[in-house]
Amino acid sequence: MTASRLAVRDQAPPRYPIDDFLADIGDVPATTEAVVVRRRSRDFFWYSPVLNAALNGKSADVVVSPRDEADVVRICAACLRHRIPLTVRAGGTGKYGQAVPLEGGVLLDVTGLSAIEWSRPGAVRVQAGARISDLDAALRPSGWEQRMHPSTKRTATVGGFVAGGSGGVGSVTYGGLRDPGNVLAARVVTMEEEPRILELRGAAAQAVNHAYGTTGVITALEMPLAPAWPWIDVVIAVDDFFAAVEIGQDLARADGIVKKLITPMMWPIPSYFGPARRHCPDGKAVIFAMIAEPSLEAARSIVGRRGEITYAEATDESPGHVPLYEYTWNHTTLQWLKQDRTITYLQCLLPADSIVAAQRRMWEMFPDEVYPHLEFMRFNGAVTCASLPIVRFTTEARLNEIIAAHEANGISIANPHVFTLEDGTRHMKADADQYGFKQQVDPYGLLNPGKMRSYVPVRT
Ligand SMILES: Cc1cc2nc3c(=O)[nH]c(=O)nc-3n(C[C@H](O)[C@H](O)[C@H](O)COP(=O)(O)OP(=O)(O)OC[C@H]3O[C@@H](n4cnc5c(N)ncnc54)[C@H](O)[C@@H]3O)c2cc1C
Repeated sequence: MTASRLAVRDQAPPRYPIDDFLADIGDVPATTEAVVVRRRSRDFFWYSPVLNAALNGKSADVVVSPRDEADVVRICAACLRHRIPLTVRAGGTGKYGQAVPLEGGVLLDVTGLSAIEWSRPGAVRVQAGARISDLDAALRPSGWEQRMHPSTKRTATVGGFVAGGSGGVGSVTYGGLRDPGNVLAARVVTMEEEPRILELRGAAAQAVNHAYGTTGVITALEMPLAPAWPWIDVVIAVDDFFAAVEIGQDLARADGIVKKLITPMMWPIPSYFGPARRHCPDGKAVIFAMIAEPSLEAARSIVGRRGEITYAEATDESPGHVPLYEYTWNHTTLQWLKQDRTITYLQCLLPADSIVAAQRRMWEMFPDEVYPHLEFMRFNGAVTCASLPIVRFTTEARLNEIIAAHEANGISIANPHVFTLEDGTRHMKADADQYGFKQQVDPYGLLNPGKMRSYVPVRT
């Protein structure tokens, strides 16, 4: 028994027979140290004042760290035997309490499962707990990289991205994770008396895509790759935000230009940026972009006199340096939150045929309350924008009014102020019968309970 297992637990009587569970899993590393368990039970739900109030203080009873897939099977069997809920936690960068164990129980830290099983031109097979940046670093000498990654690349895991994320840097070319072909296969451990290990290939793998770990523990993933270009971080300053969106659209639609990121943001968002602030002139909108070095000249021509390129340097992900993508996607919100906790955000999808008009309508409805930040991406084959505006938070009722106004204007909202799949995922949802799959692999409803709100266990 490890020292941490001997730590005194909270005085409150345990909700589950944790000691019996620990005896069953033998030498699998585990801790019940309250401070550690509480800290690991959190993610970035505090981005939302609504979720912060709802989820603060929720905690698992024990954190368990499998060393391999056999450990995962052992842990799932022990959870089932003692009817203890299990919630997977990887990098812990999810935003809507995805990895917060609402009913306590076991928190399964999968970051020890990080080996690359194989790679070949165009595809890699990797254990789910591998850090995304580590995987790209390992692949780069072969000339390949992951097609897309969240802006949390340096902390998040491949499995956490598939189970909790939706897209990000690279989505301007490859679409979202939900698009067929962006997850090739998943290996999954089920939550049954005798846990099965399933190989889900192609469309079958969608059963675990953006399901918050409610439909099985992913132990390995087969992911498609893209050529690893020499990427250039580019900042373009533009007088007017809507002109910046038009430039962004021209770049995104230019099929001959190889790009990974096109992010228009309205002033004063860049005024909250750390080191990159110096490339963002006062009062101007900016586009943060990643362009393949051979395409830079063509991109400059598209920008022309409409904007000023204030920065163009090779992407630098070395320690101590902040790559441009860490100001984009949900890092944009984080940069502002670092200085001002009164704001929050939304996650929207703009209609592909009226990006500028739809965004202009929202700005006119909520001036100085909802600041536009767009991310160009492909969705169902068309170039459109995810929008992650910064919202000045006043009340939950006002937030819901803003959400309703977006939806009434044809803008889809994946609400980041709720923690259930049914209420939150919307345009990020994979096309799969995840409920039906859960009936087969988690009949007692022990996997991350509460996140698939409508699920009724088929066995009790
Ligand atoms: C600053 C910031 C920026 C972000 N930018 C982006 C972005 O650009 N794009 C994007 O999509 N998301 C983004 N996110 C959300 C989050 O970073 C990503 O979804 C990330 O990929 C999650 O990975 P993780 O390893 O941290 O997973 P965790 O947060 O640990 O887990 C996420 C969910 O997946 C489940 N899970 C994790 N591993 C497994 C597994 N092996 N098997 C089954 N279930 C599992 C967890 O239970 C949880 O429900 C951002 C978040 C922050 C805070």
